[in-house]
Amino acid sequence: MVKVREALQTATQRLGDRTDAEVLLAYALSKSRSWLIAHADDALSAEHALAYRVLVEQREAGEPVAYITGRRGFWSLDLEVTPATLIPRPETELLVELALEHLPIDADVRVADLGTGSGAIALAIARERPRAEVTAVDASVDALAVAQRNAQRHGIANVSFAQGDWFAPLQGLRFGVIVSNPPYIECDDPHLNQGDLRFEPLSALASGADGLDDIRRIIADAKAHLLADGWLLFEHGWDQGEAVRTLLRNASFAKVSTMQDLEGRDRVSVGCWSISKSCDSP
Ligand code: GLN
Repeated sequence: MVKVREALQTATQRLGDRTDAEVLLAYALSKSRSWLIAHADDALSAEHALAYRVLVEQREAGEPVAYITGRRGFWSLDLEVTPATLIPRPETELLVELALEHLPIDADVRVADLGTGSGAIALAIARERPRAEVTAVDASVDALAVAQRNAQRHGIANVSFAQGDWFAPLQGLRFGVIVSNPPYIECDDPHLNQGDLRFEPLSALASGADGLDDIRRIIADAKAHLLADGWLLFEHGWDQGEAVRTLLRNASFAKVSTMQDLEGRDRVSVGCWSISKSCDSP
């Protein structure tokens, strides 16, 4: 009988990644990763060993771990993810942090999250700001179903869901804060055919020749959906900071700036919508 330790060693060698090997074994056994460490000398049942081998083979074939286990942690939330949704990235937590800076804890602010996918950004904001009313939009019915299940599972009630293309389902509505992690990869970027990206929805990743098609649309339409002194914040590629700041300024946004992620790369740009250009909120 193979022991936990040996199974992990073999899988780590095959996958070239210890974390993936641990996450998949923990999933196969319905245990935590720390349980594996404490039970390194336990023997795996034949059933568990077989289940683990199948999971390791799926990963070897390139399938992202998050799609195999159907889960990914984001902010303080354990989220369901499916191939209908992008897999939430740690760097996107920067967008949540920056949005929270514009959302006082005691204010009743309306927030829109465009292209919510698994609901990661909308749910993290709604969880941190119980008085905010968050509307999560996605064009994909399947993605919205995942986001709705994530809201239910975490008992987050101050988020509602709307199906449609960017602002289409938000006619006549205005928000204090609009956030988005839109697609922003150039459509002929070779990375789209590599690694985990191959398995993720192309509509959530690629956006025209320069990757900015959807960002241009969001900036153009955001003005009609922001309250005075409202903020637009969105994620973009590490090399798009200057281009998106120019787009924001040309669209008459004030206080335009770009923030870097933990690896020091341009990641989120923000702008304030104000006819008077006061934008006094933090
Ligand atoms: N950050 C992702 C990546 O480059 C892309 C996500 C997106 O396009 N919104 O892998």
